[in-house]
Amino acid sequence: MTVWLRGDHLVRRRGPLADRPDDRVLLVESESFGRKLPYHPHKLTLVFSAMRHFRDELREAGRRVEYYSVGSFREGLEAYFEAYPGETLVTPSPPTPSERTRLEAMVESAGGSVEFVADERFCCSRAMFDEWAGDADGYRHEDFYRFLRRETGYLMADGEPVGGSWNYDEENRETPPDDWTAPEPPNFEPDELTRDTAAWVRETFAGGYDAEPYGGDWADPETFRWPVTRRQAVRALDDFVENRLTEFGPYQDAMRRSEWAMGHSLLSTSLNLGLLGPAEVIKRAIAAYEDGDAPLYSVEGFVRQILGWREFLRHVYRREMPALAEANQLGADEDLPAFYWTGDTEMACLSDVVDGVRRRGYSHHIERLMLLSNFGLVYGVEPRQLNRWFHAGYVDAFHWVTTPNVVEMGLFGAGVFATKPYAASANYVDRMSDYCSGCPYDKTKATGEGACPFNALYWEFLDRNENRLRSNHRMGLVYNHLDNKDDGERAAIRERADDVRSKAERGDL
Ligand code: SF4
Repeated sequence: MTVWLRGDHLVRRRGPLADRPDDRVLLVESESFGRKLPYHPHKLTLVFSAMRHFRDELREAGRRVEYYSVGSFREGLEAYFEAYPGETLVTPSPPTPSERTRLEAMVESAGGSVEFVADERFCCSRAMFDEWAGDADGYRHEDFYRFLRRETGYLMADGEPVGGSWNYDEENRETPPDDWTAPEPPNFEPDELTRDTAAWVRETFAGGYDAEPYGGDWADPETFRWPVTRRQAVRALDDFVENRLTEFGPYQDAMRRSEWAMGHSLLSTSLNLGLLGPAEVIKRAIAAYEDGDAPLYSVEGFVRQILGWREFLRHVYRREMPALAEANQLGADEDLPAFYWTGDTEMACLSDVVDGVRRRGYSHHIERLMLLSNFGLVYGVEPRQLNRWFHAGYVDAFHWVTTPNVVEMGLFGAGVFATKPYAASANYVDRMSDYCSGCPYDKTKATGEGACPFNALYWEFLDRNENRLRSNHRMGLVYNHLDNKDDGERAAIRERADDVRSKAERGDL
């Protein structure tokens, strides 16, 4: 048997690698993977450098590793089975049944066979989730989160949630005082192997992210900064728990122009590559609370992200694919504005956040949901286009991550777990950020030249989707506000929304 680890399954201490200490290990570095989308160069550097470090560490530890740098997975598998005919591969199960079928067929046609084992990057097994979900045709995150808290015992005491409440959402929505500065996030200086990988990525994948879609307007990104080894990932975890976890809680929904990381953990790349396990990061955060080093509202907020959302989205993706990727219940059909790639817009909020994505392949989750996805929602962007943009541009993005987050949560594409669209006007952005005060657009105006684009698009979104959304009981209040607008106001809103779209298409917004 051979342990076959794909590039986002770099798990050493659990799973097939730990269970089979004497078996050979296969890693295939596929160039065609890097060409599937115009991936951010930091994303490619991250995955390939982490794979190469993993290979070297395993060899240093005495493991036999076959490492192929080839054009495609198929080529790598064919080369492997030529050397080891008829071998059986053991590998973590991929995210969907169809992907499993595809991998099985690929391995068999290359001359071997494959057995799938549990994916050790998650806490909740398929069987556990399926038993919880039953045959229901929708999913409620809060119910799942409580179920998993009970199952795991995390932040539980005598069958009840620690502190008496399941969720401290209300205490996670504060905005920091003007003189607040975020603790400095860790920066992992690239070593020689990472620098070589980054140079190889630049050369091999030129014409990808840097050329999408109009080319020639790509500023040099910042130096690559993400953990590529288990050792670095553990240091990132230490740094978060010791220096930023406390600050994360109250300000997790806030946005600041000069603070790209705020108090966020920045652990998603390591979790999604398998360099860290969810249980260990949850336990570290809970230990900080128990030791009196972090408040409960911060720790619970973090546990909700990792034990709640991350596990939930992974299983919703498994069960709802392939339909979820194409879902578009609102019939949104606008093309993604070019400024998502170029950052070229006068809108202070989106210009700053897109600039951050271009520099480092990252923005935090509220910027993703309430700026980038919210704008796509009210503008009417076709969901699969925005999904592709997130998938290509973020260092922590994989299809199982972005599809439920963007298509469903951000753009209300399917209605399988989102109970309403997360549409918001400049009011929200102004309350949760410091962007509007430095923006040439007027946050208080919805119509006419100079009015904040979010405002007209927000009202026009409600107007345009009235037949579908008015009956949603969570939308009653906003439709009451829309009802207060007379025909003239509604016409001016539609005119401004059309104007915003025309300007966005011309690259003039
Ligand atoms: Fe963004 Fe509108 Fe505020 Fe400008 S005024 S920062 S475009 S929300």
